[in-house]
Formats: sequence, structure tokens, C-alpha cells
Amino acid sequence: MRCHGCTSEIEHCHGTLVVHVDRAECTDPGCADLHADRHTFVVECFDVAGGCACRAAVQFRRAAV
Ligand SMILES: [Zn+2]
Ligand SMILES: [Zn+2]
Ligand SMILES: [Zn+2]
Repeated sequence: MRCHGCTSEIEHCHGTLVVHVDRAECTDPGCADLHADRHTFVVECFDVAGGCACRAAVQFRRAAV
């Protein structure tokens, strides 16, 4: 697989970065740097099938303010 990052030789990851409210995780177990700029595919955990506990936490926080 080649992407814009491959042609420019910027160190990057082809895994999908899942961004949570207070952390991030990558589908590539060998991923060394969980930064959105290094990833071709970045999704918010809200968009992941089945959702994520983060969503409920944010809604709870908003409701509490
Ligand atoms: Zn690439
Ligand atoms: Zn989450
Ligand atoms: Zn990665």
C-alpha cells in the first residue's frame, strides 16, 4: 500500500488511528506513535461500529455542567 506519506517518505503508519476522548489507539499493534498526523486513516471512536464508552462519558459530563 502506498499513500501520500509513502511518496514523501514521512514516517507514518497505515493502521487506523481510533481517537478517543482522552487517548488514541491504533489498529496496527506495532504502531510506535499514536499521533493523528502520522496516520492515513483517523476515525473518532464515536464513529466505530458499536460506539465507545467515551461517548457516554462525554454526554454525562455535558449533562453535569
Ligand atoms: Zn504510506
Ligand atoms: Zn472512545
Ligand atoms: Zn498507527
